[in-house]
This record gives sequence, structure tokens and C-alpha cells, in this order.
Amino acid sequence: MGRKDKKTPPENKPLISPGLLLINCPSEYFVHIPMGTFGICDYLRQKNIKAKILNLSLYNRDEIYKKLGYYLELFQPTHIGLIFHWQETAGGVIRLSEYIKSRTESIKIICGGFTAGYFGENLLEKCNFIDFIIKGDPEKPLEMLLKGTDVCKVPNLIYRNPEGIKSNNPSYFIDRKTLSNISFCDLTFLYDYDLYIKSVENRMGFPVFIGRGCIFSCRYCGGSRKAFRLHSGRAKPIARSIESVISDLRRLKEFTGKIYLCYENDRTYIKNLFRALKRENDLVKSFQLNYGAWRLFDKKFLELYRDIFLPSNSDKPFFELSPEVFVDKSREKIKGRKLFYSMRELEENLNLIRSHLGEDVNVYLFFSRYHDTVTSYNDMKKEITGIFRLSHNFFSNNVFNVNISYDHLSTDIASLCWEKYTDNPHELDTLISSIRKIKSHELYSFPFNNLCVYLPRTLSEEDVLRCEMLIFVLNYLERFFPELFHILFSCLEEKTVDLVEEIINSAYINKPGNFFATFDFCDLLERIRHTLTMQKTLFSQIPFIEDLTNFLIKKSSFYERPWTPASFYHTSHPKLDNAFISVNEHDYLNMGIFLRKLKKEGVKTLNAEMTVFIFLIDEILSMTYETYCATIKNFEKGISLNEYYGMMDRKHIFNLSYHKDLIARLFQSGVLY
Ligand code: SF4
Repeated sequence: MGRKDKKTPPENKPLISPGLLLINCPSEYFVHIPMGTFGICDYLRQKNIKAKILNLSLYNRDEIYKKLGYYLELFQPTHIGLIFHWQETAGGVIRLSEYIKSRTESIKIICGGFTAGYFGENLLEKCNFIDFIIKGDPEKPLEMLLKGTDVCKVPNLIYRNPEGIKSNNPSYFIDRKTLSNISFCDLTFLYDYDLYIKSVENRMGFPVFIGRGCIFSCRYCGGSRKAFRLHSGRAKPIARSIESVISDLRRLKEFTGKIYLCYENDRTYIKNLFRALKRENDLVKSFQLNYGAWRLFDKKFLELYRDIFLPSNSDKPFFELSPEVFVDKSREKIKGRKLFYSMRELEENLNLIRSHLGEDVNVYLFFSRYHDTVTSYNDMKKEITGIFRLSHNFFSNNVFNVNISYDHLSTDIASLCWEKYTDNPHELDTLISSIRKIKSHELYSFPFNNLCVYLPRTLSEEDVLRCEMLIFVLNYLERFFPELFHILFSCLEEKTVDLVEEIINSAYINKPGNFFATFDFCDLLERIRHTLTMQKTLFSQIPFIEDLTNFLIKKSSFYERPWTPASFYHTSHPKLDNAFISVNEHDYLNMGIFLRKLKKEGVKTLNAEMTVFIFLIDEILSMTYETYCATIKNFEKGISLNEYYGMMDRKHIFNLSYHKDLIARLFQSGVLY
């Protein structure tokens, strides 16, 4: 057989077939891949261009570069698309693009996403290891770029030529038909998609893609109407057809039963989607839906939700609502009139949810700090008081499916706040140095849970520190010592925050060292006890404070107890170690009952109910003082185990197997020795 002559490729066509590897860069904040990524792959497949996704957030730190090398070798991409959507991924994007470019010149690096589009030319100017930026919708520009179209003809593209950096302004906006003809949930595009499914199932679920853009303008949001104009050139949102979302769900069913929806430009659209789903027998009761709501729920929505989605199992579905701030007026400014609801309406809405779904869903309420509508320390204190009081009210009214989260606000790139309050907002340097400052704690000594790059200038450093200390202490109490938190709020109401503030001002604010890193709970307890006992009126509202703090000090040593290997060795004449036993005036662990009693009887006529707490290795056992005297207190008299069992049998106190189990646990915990 003769040798065939090699064909010369036509001009402007790439020598090898193009392939795009989209990479979600490692990030400590996000494991989720922006929703549009799967759609890009499907779009390119329809144009006969191979594309894959590598999510480096899925792997351990020490595996990342090994995985990258492995998949680069396997896929042999001509282009790499680095997803630069949220600003939190900035460090990962820069490190990775530098790393890839230092190893191979031939692979072209493209950056896209909100943040890439927002910084645009400046990003390309600062990062010479990035070849292209796509500003706005990426589907057609990627197709053209990968097919070798002359860069000056590729819409939405920012690129370099010998004259410098050039920008083709966004002129391509995907149309509804194209958006509806591509799938956004073909997980096979993603390497190791089983890891991703596991990971999203442990969190909110697989995000279902409905559309792009928003009609609202929340001030902090980088996905708002105004922000979309800045980073994507998009003036109007666009939504997929309901049929296309349903066909995606049918595909998704093969991979996961847990989904997340958070796209509510139009509640009617969502209800129409639910109605259409209700007609699809194979999809009804196939998914657990976690739902991020942009506004309060209505009856029809809740009825449809109940009819279509899987009810609660061990992993409860959740609804998210973001009131953001406690004071209604601030919320109205932040969210605008159309999305505004008052706190009273929110509480009524929680009742509506409960009346339709019982406690089958958890509701997460997101509040955040710092907003530009909360400008003084007193405003902040009002917020803090309102939010923690609300949390206490839920607990004391037995509402256990509503959870409050009070985090730092991520001031998104391109948001109104970013644009208004940041010096040089369009400079990448501004973002990078803010991130570096935050990470090196140059700005804050307190722990932060988001990239909060905005702090109102009307708050002094000391104001911020004081707010952070207040929140930290209240959070700590609520989380680890709910007895004290709820008793304080029950007895002192808002004065609880005054009390904590007084302690912070007198003892902590000027104390050298990092308060957050060296926080000493026992010291705080001691100060709470001391402050309350020194103030007659406060003390009269919580006269059992000494007894309560004694119990909590024992409880804190229970938390700090070093782990010891289990030993079931029994001595025949055991002794009782009182260090693990606390006798108190009330059953503080049975909080619901105790708070109701407190409310009913009033603090002045509250009868003591002597309670014994036994600090076992893994739990705190409580019993009435009478039961304690009739049972294990007898070991103080030096009785043997056999005498004990005989005594219990004669007195008909529980049964033998109960006591054998109890004795074993007491030995294992060192209470008997
Ligand atoms: S937070 Fe507000 S502006 Fe942002 S996507 Fe949601 S509704 Fe739109």
C-alpha cells in the first residue's frame, strides 16, 4: 500500500482538533461549579468540539497538581477555560494560570465568568499568562475561538495583539431557543463526577439551571441587574423553556435525587414549572428540592412543593430566605421595594410554611453584616440584639426547624456596594490586595466567614471589633451553652446584650492579645456571674445565676475532658468520683420544660427541683436528686456491686439490665472507680 500524502490544513484552521478543558480552580469557599459550565460543554459538543470539566476543588491540596497533570495528559486540550466567576476564587485562578503557562506555552488560557468579565482588560493587562477573557455569554465566542476564527471577529472577546489589548464589546447574547436546546446537567462532562455528586449531595444538591440575569438590584449582589450590565453587558434576564428544564431533570435523575433551585425572577414561572412537573409521573416524588427563595412563600407554591417533591427523610430539605438585616427600613433599602418584606410578614410566612409542610423542611434565615444601611455602632447593636432575640424566640416557642445564620456579607464584585465604596473598583489589584489583607489578618483579628471587603466608613475599627466580640460571645453561648443563652434572654430579654457589652467594654476591648484566639469561656462565665450578682435589679431577675454558672463550669470541663480509651474493668466495691457529678437547683438541660416553668411560675416563685448531672464520657446524664439518692449515691456507703443490684431489685427501681448498662458506663467514664 502506498503512502498517502499528508493534507495541508486550510488556512486559519487549527492543525489538531480543538478541545477545551474547563477548570474550576481550587477554592476553600466553593466546591460548586458555576451552573453554566455544563451547558458550555453540551453547546460545544453540538458543534463537534470536545470539552470536559475538571473540578480541582474536589481534591485534597496535595493531589491537585497531580490530578491536573494527569487530566491534561489524558485530554490534551488546545485551550483551557479557567472559571473566574466569584471573586473568592481569584487566588486559585491566578496561581493555576501561572502554573499552567509556566509548563506549556502552546495551550491557550481563557478566563470567563462574572469576575473575569468585570475586570476584563485590566485582568489581561495584569496577568500576561492569561491569553483571552470572555466578557458575558461564552457559548458562541468559545465556539468561534476554538474553531480558529480571527480573534477580531469573535464577539465578547478580550485579547492581545501587537498593538496592545483589544476588546470586542459584548454583542453576543444567547437566545432562548439555544439556551433551551442545551443541557445543563450532563454530568459525564465532568471528570470524577461521582465525587462531585457526593459533594453536592452533602451540601445543597445539584443546582438546576433556569436562566441568566436578574431583574432586581440588591445592593450587595454581583448577580443583580446592574452588575450584569457591568460584567456581562447583559441588560435583560433570559430564561430557558420549561420543557428544557424538565428534560434536564429527567437526565439528572440518573445521577442524583437531590437538587437546588435558586432563580426566582418570576415566581409564576417557577409555579408553572412545578405544574408541568406534576404532570410527569416519572418525575413526581423523584427529587428532594432545596429552594433558595427571593421572596416570601405563597400557598400555591407550598401546595405544589408538597405534591411534587420528596418529603423529609433523615436529610431534611431546606428553604432559604435572606432577610439580610433585622431592621425593616434597612431591608427595604437593601432589597428594594419589590423584594421587601417586614419581619412580621416573615414570621407569618414561617407559620404558613409550617401549616403546609409541618417540620418537614428546615428554613434557613440568612442575616449578614456589614451593610451600608447600618452605619453606626448603635445601629449594629440593634441588629445584633434583634437577630439573637429572634433566635431565642424560635427556641422558646418550640420552633426547631428554623435556623438563623449571621455571617459576614460577601461584597460582590460589580455590586452597587463594590462600585460605590471601593477605591479603584475596576483594578484587579484592589481585589487581590483586599483578599491578601483579609487573609493575613492585617485588617481583622476576628474570624471571618466570607470575603467581606466592605466595612462602612462610619464604623471605627473599635466599633467593628466591639460588634464582632458581641456576636462572637453570643454565638458561642448559643452554640455551646444554650442553657445560659436562653435563660439570659428569657429573664433579661434585650438586657442580655447590654450585659455582654458591659463585660466586653470593661474587660475585653482593651485587653492585649487576640481575644478571639484566646477566648476563655470560664472567665466569661465568672464575669457574667459577678456582674449579675453586683446589680440588684438584674440579680433579682435571675437569682439562680450562681448555681447555673457552677453547672456550666462543670459542663465546660466535660467538653475539655481528654479522650481516654474505653475500659470496662469493674472493681467489686466501687467508689464514686464526685468531680463528675453536679447537684443543682434546676434541670438546666431540659431547657424547653425549664423555660416554660420559668414563664409560668415566674422567677420569684420558682420552686427548686434538685437535679443531679453525671458527666459521662460521651453524654451528660440527668436525674432527680431522689433517684440519685435511691441509686448510685449508695456507693458512697461502700456497698458492693452485688449489694447494689440486689437493692435495686428489692426496691423495683428499673431492671437489672438497665443497671448493668449504667454501671458499665459509669466505670467507663471514671464516675465509678
Ligand atoms: S440577591 Fe437580589 S439581585 Fe442578587 S440575584 Fe438575588 S434577587 Fe437578584
